[in-house]
Amino acid sequence: MVVAVPTAVNPTPTFHYDDAGYMVVEGVRVRDIQDALGEEASPFYVYSKAQISANYEAYRAALDGVDAIIGYAIKANNNKAVVKHLAGLGAGAVLVSGAELRLAMEAGMDTSRTVFNGNGKTPAELRAAVRSQCLINVDSEFDAAHIADAARAEGLPANVLIRINPDVDPEVHAYVSTGLANSKFGIRNSHLQWFLDYIRDAGDDVLRLAGVHSHLGSTIKKVSIFKDAADIMLGFVNTIREGGAAPHLRYLNIGGGLGIDYERVGEELPSPADLINTIRPQLLAGGLTVIMEPGRSLVGNAGALVSRVIGVKTNGSTRFIVTDGSMSELIRPALYDAYMYIAATEPGGETGVFDVVGPVCESSDFLGKGRSLPLPAEGSGLAVMDAGAYCHVMASNYNMKRLPTEVLVDGDEWRIVRKGQTYEDLMLGYEGLDV
Ligand SMILES: *Cc1c(COP(=O)(O)O)cnc(C)c1O
Repeated sequence: MVVAVPTAVNPTPTFHYDDAGYMVVEGVRVRDIQDALGEEASPFYVYSKAQISANYEAYRAALDGVDAIIGYAIKANNNKAVVKHLAGLGAGAVLVSGAELRLAMEAGMDTSRTVFNGNGKTPAELRAAVRSQCLINVDSEFDAAHIADAARAEGLPANVLIRINPDVDPEVHAYVSTGLANSKFGIRNSHLQWFLDYIRDAGDDVLRLAGVHSHLGSTIKKVSIFKDAADIMLGFVNTIREGGAAPHLRYLNIGGGLGIDYERVGEELPSPADLINTIRPQLLAGGLTVIMEPGRSLVGNAGALVSRVIGVKTNGSTRFIVTDGSMSELIRPALYDAYMYIAATEPGGETGVFDVVGPVCESSDFLGKGRSLPLPAEGSGLAVMDAGAYCHVMASNYNMKRLPTEVLVDGDEWRIVRKGQTYEDLMLGYEGLDV
């Protein structure tokens, strides 16, 4: 019998329990990975290759019949094996730094299908982006000037997308809302004509207006929000076209941001197909190539952070499970008060209600509060689910914790796809210095 984690919510049960009550990823027991890695490599991240494939396929199938680029937002999870796998499936990339551009190229991404984003792109990053012929978004007046400088320096035209703020409220946490009129991202829309003039005046050998871009935010759960934004963006495309020559205008980039089912309570979340079907008429009517920039919805539910239980204690009326996993390895709960589902990876005792916390010296260091879990034995495993996006990439060395090992499961096999740090790695910065 295959039981998803938890039952029935996860449509592709790549994470499930076997008959003996152990959590299995594809065909591999989490406990076996834990034993093989040992205590030194705990906690660790485990990813399912099949789940990533399924998530990508959901976008690909939804976009059937639409000229499209699915650009994977590498910032969600920059593990090279993950990026390579998505490149192999046909994904392009969405980049926010020069280092991400280097990684995308090393992982075999086709740079003509990548978008370089950001409100603070440096001259060196822009030159690299021009050299590799990425699409580059124009985020401000100074950014337009810097991109033109980079294009002149490289002797190559820069293909640019104007990042518009549709001013549609994504109805998400303020820290992940990025498309409102007072956001630090994107241009002042009232200034659109200034940008069009600037691009035209720079000349075709310097700046080419390839399209428009928007990104509303992340963890969005309503497709109507994307539809409203797509309508507004198409309005901008029409305005630009009516204004005359935009011979290179081809792309409508509607960003990323589709939410995932962190709560796992069976809430109906929109799928990529729901999202795309809502805007399909607009996409086809414009005769444009659509760019989508999913991050979280491609990799989020494909990963988990697996910690070991150090012990269980009670203070006042609260029972705590203390694990070796903490806000240093997974900061979303501490940073955004984000809810992430926590599941035991092996059978335990009587079910109770616990706060799951780490050893870091901050009261914000929790992974989950008030969770119903079987009483765990010391050394047993607890998994924070849906940790494939914005988790390992935000890990830190706070409290001298070390960046965790990452493991990729593929069917009945698994392998380490990034080594965890050692104490010696933390000391590298002192090498050759007199301290
Ligand atoms: C972060 C980001 C994305 C990805 O967002 P998700 O919520 O992970 O899908 C896409 N586009 C841009 C410009 C971003 O900054």
